[in-house]
Amino acid sequence: MKKPFIALSLILILALLSGAQQPQPQQPKLEDVLKNLVTVETPLPVPDALKAGFESITAKDSITILSFLSSDFMEGRETTMRGYQLAAEYAASLMSLWKVKPLGDAPRPQGFGRFNPAASGAPAAPAPEKSYLQNIIFKEISDANAQMTLEVRKGDALKTRSFQAGIDYSSMSSTAETISAPVVFTGYGITEKAAGYDDFKNFDVKGKIVIILSEAPGKDDPKSPFQAVKELKDKYFPAQGPMQMMRMGEGFSKTREIAKLGPAAILQVQNKGKDADIYRSLGEPRRASDDRPIINRPRRRLVIPGISANMPWEQSPVISITREMADAILEGTGSKLDDLQKKIETTYKPASLVVPGTKLTVATTAKTALVKAMNVLGFIEGSDPALKDEVVVIGAHLDHLGKYEDYVFNGADDNGSGSVGVLNVARAMALSPRKPKRSVVFALWTGEEEGLLGSRYYVMNPAFPQANTVAYFNLDMISRPYDEKTIQRMSFMMNIPISQDILKKIKPATFLPVSFSAGAGLADVLRTADQYVGLDLFLRETQSQTGRGMGGSDHSSFAAEKIPWIFGMASMTDDYHQTSDSVEKVSGELIEKISRLAFASIYAIADK
Ligand SMILES: [Zn+2]
Repeated sequence: MKKPFIALSLILILALLSGAQQPQPQQPKLEDVLKNLVTVETPLPVPDALKAGFESITAKDSITILSFLSSDFMEGRETTMRGYQLAAEYAASLMSLWKVKPLGDAPRPQGFGRFNPAASGAPAAPAPEKSYLQNIIFKEISDANAQMTLEVRKGDALKTRSFQAGIDYSSMSSTAETISAPVVFTGYGITEKAAGYDDFKNFDVKGKIVIILSEAPGKDDPKSPFQAVKELKDKYFPAQGPMQMMRMGEGFSKTREIAKLGPAAILQVQNKGKDADIYRSLGEPRRASDDRPIINRPRRRLVIPGISANMPWEQSPVISITREMADAILEGTGSKLDDLQKKIETTYKPASLVVPGTKLTVATTAKTALVKAMNVLGFIEGSDPALKDEVVVIGAHLDHLGKYEDYVFNGADDNGSGSVGVLNVARAMALSPRKPKRSVVFALWTGEEEGLLGSRYYVMNPAFPQANTVAYFNLDMISRPYDEKTIQRMSFMMNIPISQDILKKIKPATFLPVSFSAGAGLADVLRTADQYVGLDLFLRETQSQTGRGMGGSDHSSFAAEKIPWIFGMASMTDDYHQTSDSVEKVSGELIEKISRLAFASIYAIADK
């Protein structure tokens, strides 16, 4: 087993153990689930205005396009890489073929910047035709490495000790910076009025490095003030393990709350279990297989220049450390972590303290470079002169995980299928004899796997003013039908009770949960559109302002701008983010149906 593999798993395990502190959102009642279930016995005939476009969307054509986009030739379409550029140019050529108008950047006129023809009195050349590509420059951060050094001063003696990334600690931060600060132990890092407990009382942690335990006191004590109330129990001891991470719930995150107090960095130790548990769990390395190769590629990070590399909740880097390392840092207090923890666990009173004579330095180095990427943008102009400057945007991320050595992440389902969905709707709109009143924009995003970068860039540099953007329809992973197992997985991730009664009512193969923002009448749009398609829809309306908790994808970039959004995602299978996510596993029929649902919905919104 290669060393880098150990480091990576340690990072994953420590992150999973310490990160998952999201409260369980309220589960909808059974009657609400039934109310939001849309099943269609026999689809209705399509209205004439939609007919040509609707019928142009077929399973056969979808598979044809997807086979190319997810071929090894595309090298897994990684952002800024050749494979992605090839896929982008291919999509642009299809749009051009279908007479979809370009909406990307105008190519720079020859000799731009050096010679201005207008200045010479020559007749102004007509405005150059736009391209289909919105070019973006990202900052690439790679080879990030964090060194940690501890200095303990006792009288005249100064002891220095350094720790090793991947062994003693794991850090996800990639910002090249050096943080050096005194250390404070702040128990569980909790301020919880409901439990009458505050680790930060009389403690100013601004600019200091804090050490905390994950979760909360009294994990195994039902009498603990953190167990007595269900809300607190769900908040600090979420029932579910790693899968929790995938729920990306909204709301409380302990480290995000602590970051607001302005500490220089947060060191977190897992609440329960010994370091040995972590290393033991690494004992049996996963068996490598072609479907599940062990890939240890160097981590790189892409950011939009000028936009904080750190996500809001990363203002203070969070570093997971082992208990052994925590004991070394706490040496100056004369106590071990276990002693301090026991003190809190027996009194349910904080035991926060400054670690005397101690300074910790975290020096992160990283290489940075500017790299080029692009979104693909096209549009169909609206037919109503008064409304054609208003737009409905449909989008999907075209990028995926790329390749490593001989392994290619073809990304047929994620998100070759959603990209095909956008192209299907583009052609359908182009073939529709009567265009909807408003214009429709077709977008293929780059950088989704890197943090929704392409769609975040677009909402900051929109082709039509945001105020004119009446809705956004996002497609991500629309080609793998549900089955009993993945429906159960979905019911957990989306917190929807799927009882046997409900299972009897739906056909897993055409089942689709659709999430959307409240207050824009989108439920009716989807219900009506589905009358022509015949999917079994579960409508998930949300008040969420961020779209988070509804699956991390590009709709979040539009939700953050308060633009009404719809998000369609089919089943998440074991091939998710694996090299086994390939075209022979997808359902062209499902892509056809979901693309037709998107087409009919967007036509209705744009023609309202
Ligand atoms: Zn995706």
